[in-house]
Amino acid sequence: MKEWVIGIDIGGTTVKIGKFNLTGELIKKWEIPTNTSDNGSHILNDIYASIKQEIPNLDAIQGYGFGVPGPVHDNFIEVAVNLGWKDVNLPKTFGDLVNNDNVVVANDANVATLGEAAHGAAKGLSNVALITLGTGVGSGLVINNMIIDGVNGNAGEIGHMAIHSNYHFPCNCGNVNCLETFASASGVRNLYHAIAENYTGHSLLDDIDHPSAKQIFDTAKEGDKLALQVVEEVADAIGYGCHVYAMLVNPKRIVLGGGLAKAGDFLLSRVQKAFLGYVFNPVKDTEIVLATLGNDAGIYGAAEMVRT
Ligand SMILES: [Zn+2]
Repeated sequence: MKEWVIGIDIGGTTVKIGKFNLTGELIKKWEIPTNTSDNGSHILNDIYASIKQEIPNLDAIQGYGFGVPGPVHDNFIEVAVNLGWKDVNLPKTFGDLVNNDNVVVANDANVATLGEAAHGAAKGLSNVALITLGTGVGSGLVINNMIIDGVNGNAGEIGHMAIHSNYHFPCNCGNVNCLETFASASGVRNLYHAIAENYTGHSLLDDIDHPSAKQIFDTAKEGDKLALQVVEEVADAIGYGCHVYAMLVNPKRIVLGGGLAKAGDFLLSRVQKAFLGYVFNPVKDTEIVLATLGNDAGIYGAAEMVRT
């Protein structure tokens, strides 16, 4: 008898594994380190061994869903740099290990979007976008309950959408002024340095050598004018990104997650205001909310792919 569904979120340093019952309730979660040696060739075996230890009777498992850090199209992973993977047919390789053909894989941000749509900040909704504001900007789209991946798995990657700006912020991808260079932790620091350069007033940040994104936000909350200007510009960039999503795919809700979203309503209210300044009137009711599942969104979404 099938009793469990497994949601697996493979990151560059840890693999998160969740054991869910068939109604989608998280029963237990744990982590194992990601062994990226030998081009990541041990990762799937390690996951198999760890699950087998927790659930010796693999016949009780209905399916295995995976989120991986890289573009995925049609269950095929061309490249996942952080794992050392190239041309990996995960459903076939892992399916053979566990003798189960219900193995599905998708990009981690898309999987997290599905998690928020199934159990989190957009629970029960079938048209949802997620923007993760962390070290970089991740994003995912679920439209009509389906993950949208595009021709080569890059649909909805608005982190690398170019922003028209007078600034010149190089991005890790090789381009300049991607949304990520404004709307992530490094974006906050980029904007701080650019604005501080020409700022003539006194700021509480003057005494800190290289303030972190969190220090800049905390200082803004104390009313510091320079820090507030940085936050306004960060929020403006995020609001711009939200408007692009709203215009293109008209989701019911856009969920903001990641480290920056921890600033809560202080950031959210500014993003909503910026969004309204850009967006086409008929889609202005698009709801922008904060994520609720945190780091568990991935395992929830991964399990959801094989549960239903
Ligand atoms: Zn970029």
